[in-house]
Amino acid sequence: MPDIIQLLPDHVANQIAAGEVVQRPASVVKELLENAIDAGATDIKLIIKEAGKNLIQVIDNGKGMTDTDARLSFERHATSKIRKAEDLFDLHTKGFRGEALASIAAIAQVEMKTKTEEAELGTQIKIDGGDFISQENVSASAGTSISVKNLFFNIPARRNFLKSNTIETRHIVNEFQLVSLAHPQITFSMYHNENDVYNLLESNLRQRIVSVFGKKTNEKLVPINETTDVVTVTGFVAKPEFAKKKRGEQFFFVNDRFIKNSYLNHAVTSAFESLLTQGSYPSYFLYLTVPTKSIDINIHPTKTEVKFEDEKTIYAILRSTIKHSLGQYNVAPVLDFERQSSFDTPYDFKGKPVGTPQIQVDPDFNPFKTESTSTSTSSSSSSPSRSHSYKPSLNTESWEGLYAGLETQDISIEQPTEPDTLFSDGQSQDTTHGGSTYQIHKKYIVSSIKSGIVYINQHLAHQRILYEEFLQNITVKDAMSQQLLFPLDISFNKSDIVLIKEIQDDLISVGFDFGDFTEDSVNIIGIPVNTSESQIVIILEQLLEDIKNDVPDSSYSQHDVMAKSLAKSLAIKTGTHLDQKEQEKLVDELFSCKQPDVSPFGKTTFITVTLNDIDKQFNR
Ligand code: ADP
Ligand code: MG
Repeated sequence: MPDIIQLLPDHVANQIAAGEVVQRPASVVKELLENAIDAGATDIKLIIKEAGKNLIQVIDNGKGMTDTDARLSFERHATSKIRKAEDLFDLHTKGFRGEALASIAAIAQVEMKTKTEEAELGTQIKIDGGDFISQENVSASAGTSISVKNLFFNIPARRNFLKSNTIETRHIVNEFQLVSLAHPQITFSMYHNENDVYNLLESNLRQRIVSVFGKKTNEKLVPINETTDVVTVTGFVAKPEFAKKKRGEQFFFVNDRFIKNSYLNHAVTSAFESLLTQGSYPSYFLYLTVPTKSIDINIHPTKTEVKFEDEKTIYAILRSTIKHSLGQYNVAPVLDFERQSSFDTPYDFKGKPVGTPQIQVDPDFNPFKTESTSTSTSSSSSSPSRSHSYKPSLNTESWEGLYAGLETQDISIEQPTEPDTLFSDGQSQDTTHGGSTYQIHKKYIVSSIKSGIVYINQHLAHQRILYEEFLQNITVKDAMSQQLLFPLDISFNKSDIVLIKEIQDDLISVGFDFGDFTEDSVNIIGIPVNTSESQIVIILEQLLEDIKNDVPDSSYSQHDVMAKSLAKSLAIKTGTHLDQKEQEKLVDELFSCKQPDVSPFGKTTFITVTLNDIDKQFNR
C-alpha cells in the first residue's frame, strides 16, 4: 500500500483552526478589540455593517506595527506577546496564542493599515481567504486599522449558519460591553450601519457601568473595595431589591479579563443570604486583581474560564467583603457620584436628580377650569386662571433650558389678545377653540405666542411627548401600571416569546405586568396607563417587529427602539378631535420636553410664524 498521509496545506489548516477561534462575527470583534488593547490604545472604534457579516472594522491609536511585523502578524502562531512556555504563567496581555489574525484572514477579506509612532509611512496589507494579495506603503496615522469583510465568504456552510442580524448584533454588543466594562479608562465607540450605538468616553468604573447599562443603574450600585495579599476586589454589587429574575448582569473580571466562575458566583450569592427572594439573582460587576502567576487562563479555548491558585481564600474574601458592604449600605446611603456633563446614555436627564423619585405636580391644574374654558365658545381665555403666560407642567428647569439659544423666538404661550378676530366666524368647521389654542382640520394645534403663532402637528408632537416619557420610564423611574380585571392571554410564536422575555424588565418599566409565560403565549395582567386592552396586541406586535428590524439601525440601544415604537403606536392620530383641555395639555407637555422641536423620528413637530413674518405679508 502506498503512503497516504500528507501535510495539509497551510491555508486549509488555517481554515480548520479558524473554526475554533471564529464562531461568529462577535468572535472577530473580541479578538480585534483585544489586540487593540494589547497595543496600548486609548481610543478604540468599532465599525460594523450588517451585524458584522459584511464588515467588522477596528481602528485603534495603539503602538502600530512595522512593515515586517505587519506581514508576520498574519502567520499562524506568530505573536509578540509570549516567547517561551513559562511566559504563559505570567500573562499581562489578552492575546498570546498568535492565531487570531491568521484565522480571521483565512476566512474573510482582510485589509490592515498600520503605522508606528516613529515610522514616516504606514503599511497596508491585503489578504483574501488566506491568500496574500498585496503589501504597500501608505500614509496613515499612528495605530492600526483592520477591516474584515465578508466573513466566511469562502465557507458558505458557515456563512449560512450565521443567525439573524438581530442575534449576531446582540452577540457583538455583548462582546463590546464586556471589553468596555473591563477598560473604563479607554474611550470606546461603536457604529453599526453608520449609526452610533455607543460612545463611551474615558471614565471611572461607575460611570462606565452607568454609560453601558443606563442611568437607572447608578442608584442600584453598592461599592465594593477590599485589598488583601491574595486578591484586590473592587467594583459594585446591585442592592438586593434590584435583583433580577434572570442571571443577566453578573460580571467577574480578573486582571481586566471577563471570566465566568460558578464557584465565585456562589460566594457572591451567599453574601446576599436572606436578602434575596427565591429565584432572583443579584447583579454584580466585580473586578478581581490577582498576581498573574497565581492564575491559569489557558484551560479554555475561548478564554472565559480561569483557574485560581487560591480559590478558597478568594471565595472567603469575596463573600465577607460583599456582606460587609451590604451591611454598611443598609445604614449609610450610598453617595452619589460626580455626574459628567458629557454622559453618553441614550437620554440625558441633565439637571434632574438621578434616582430620586419625584411626584410631579401641575401647578396649573384646576379641575373646574376645564368646564368653563371648553364650554364657552369665544373669549373664555379672559378667565383669570390663564392670565399668566404659559407655565410648564413638568419642571421649570427644563422649560428654561429650552430657550438657550432661542432668544429671538419667544415661544411662551400667551393669552391671545383678540381671539375672535383671528379664528372665529367663517373658519372651517374643524376649527375648535375656546382658549388660547385651536385645533384645525383635526391635525394641527394652533396657538398664539408672544412672537407670533405656533402650529403644532398633533400626531408628531404627541410622539415626542410619549417618547420622552417612555424613555424616562425605562431609564429613570418606572411607570404606573393599570391592572386588568381579566388578564389577557396573547399567542406569539416561540421566538417572539423569547424576545418578550428578554425585554420583559423594560416592558415592566413602562407599565406592563406579566403573569405566566408558556412556550407560545403570554399572560398579561397589567398594561400602561392610557392604553386600552384592544390596542395591546397591536402595540406588542409592532414593538417586536421594530426591535427585530431596528436593532441593527438603532442609534442608541434597545431602549431607544422601544420608546420610539411605543410612542409611534400610541400617539394621537391625525383626525382625532381634541377638546380644549387636551389641546392645552398637549402644548404644555410638548414644551416641557427636552427636545420639543422634532419627533423621535426626526420630523418637525411645530413651526412658528412670527409677527414680523405676518407684518411683511401685509406690507408687500
Ligand atoms: P495574539 O494577540 O495572540 O498575539 P494575534 O493573531 O491576535 O495574536 O496577533 C498577532 C500579533 O499581531 C500580535 O502579537 C501583535 O504583535 C500584532 N498585532 C495584532 N493586532 C495589533 C494591533 N491592533 N496593534 C498592534 N499590533 C497588533
Ligand atoms: Mg490577539
